[in-house]
Amino acid sequence: MDKIRYNNLPRDYYYDKSLKIIDSIKDLPSRPILGLHSCCGPCSTYPLKFLYKYFKIKILYINSNIYPKEEYQRRLEEQIKFVEMFNKDYDADVEVITFDYDNESYNKLLEAFKDEVEGGKRCFLCYRLRMNLACKYCVEKGYDYFTTVMSISSQKNALELNKIGEELESKYPIKYFYSDFKKHKGMDQSIEMRKHYNLYSQSYCGCIYSYKDMERRMNEKK
Ligand code: SF4
Repeated sequence: MDKIRYNNLPRDYYYDKSLKIIDSIKDLPSRPILGLHSCCGPCSTYPLKFLYKYFKIKILYINSNIYPKEEYQRRLEEQIKFVEMFNKDYDADVEVITFDYDNESYNKLLEAFKDEVEGGKRCFLCYRLRMNLACKYCVEKGYDYFTTVMSISSQKNALELNKIGEELESKYPIKYFYSDFKKHKGMDQSIEMRKHYNLYSQSYCGCIYSYKDMERRMNEKK
């Protein structure tokens, strides 16, 4: 019997693709280098566990979307703290690379979609902006693969993320690692790891528009 389908693709389409990529590299004499865009420590938990044995991983903290700057800094510190603990516990060699933060310019790019609901066109642009930067950086550095952790989140559209990755792969000399990290208990494991490492869990996605939504929700509860 066929699996349940969404958007004309089998439900596990991108998860299965990720397994196929792993299968194609697992016996190579050395691990390929993967530039892994990460939005925050909590979202990077299970993706790192899923990938670290097969890739030499560089976490790319490219997140000018995050408002305000203090929140950007807090999430960055949490990302670094988590990777240090992960490396120790898993005997891994994950590295965190940070990028310039410019929330003002980033907001100007998102502004046209400021009234969109979360998960709509504004978010698709936001995925694209950050994945594009991650991809270009990985190409410059000569990495073998690039991807993002964002498919771990049920709030993010895995189909759109993978479509953007596929598009970038066809444009630049680099491979995209297809993913749907939340599948096959990925999300459950991520939740467990967040608890285990006592990670700060943010109450909004990141941009000023999601921040305002969060404020509105909180005021409604009062
Ligand atoms: S809600 Fe999140 S993904 Fe959507 S635009 Fe804002 S920061 Fe980006």
